Amino acid sequence: MEKIPFIKGTRCAKCGIPLKISYPLKDIPYFLCGNCRIAPPLFDRALSVCLYHGIVKDIISAYKYQNKPSLGYDLVSMVLNSLKEGILELSPGLIIPVPLHRKRLKERGYDQSSLLAFGIGRQLNIPVSCENLIRTRYTIPQVNLSGYERTKNVRGAFSIRDNEELKDKVILLIDDVLTTGATIRECVKLMRGASADKIHVLTFARA
Ligand SMILES: [Zn+2]
Repeated sequence: MEKIPFIKGTRCAKCGIPLKISYPLKDIPYFLCGNCRIAPPLFDRALSVCLYHGIVKDIISAYKYQNKPSLGYDLVSMVLNSLKEGILELSPGLIIPVPLHRKRLKERGYDQSSLLAFGIGRQLNIPVSCENLIRTRYTIPQVNLSGYERTKNVRGAFSIRDNEELKDKVILLIDDVLTTGATIRECVKLMRGASADKIHVLTFARA
């Protein structure tokens, strides 16, 4: 726990990245980072527990690639310890995990984002939908790809079965990690198309 770089203090009001400002932004609660000013992300807000650095990379890698689904319990309790109030303030009406392709689910045996989504949904009493947003194309893991390759890799890889379920809802999209945001962007684009009211993103870690 001591080695985990938890995100604390001043952060961007949109993407949640920690800001290197030493004074509090109480008077400007909607202060945005440079990236969000130049190219606003498609989501409304993003929350993360910690930075995707050092030991966190090992934790995520063990969770996803070394058959350690039980780590999900620890990740859920860290999410709730750090972000419970922050999540409730957004008043999400529906939680949706970033989906795995059926073939990947078969290989891995469990779906790491759904485990987080169900754990958080159960604790906060928010319904979880994991059959609506689906991954229709099998893609290679994003982890070793460049930013541009990631965007290309996930383009058109998802689809929504029932737009009605998302219409006018405040959605909390959950994934384990936010790095370049290519996967999240692709999902959010579809949800915008389904007329969701607001789309917030929650990840355990972020780059
Ligand atoms: Zn930002």
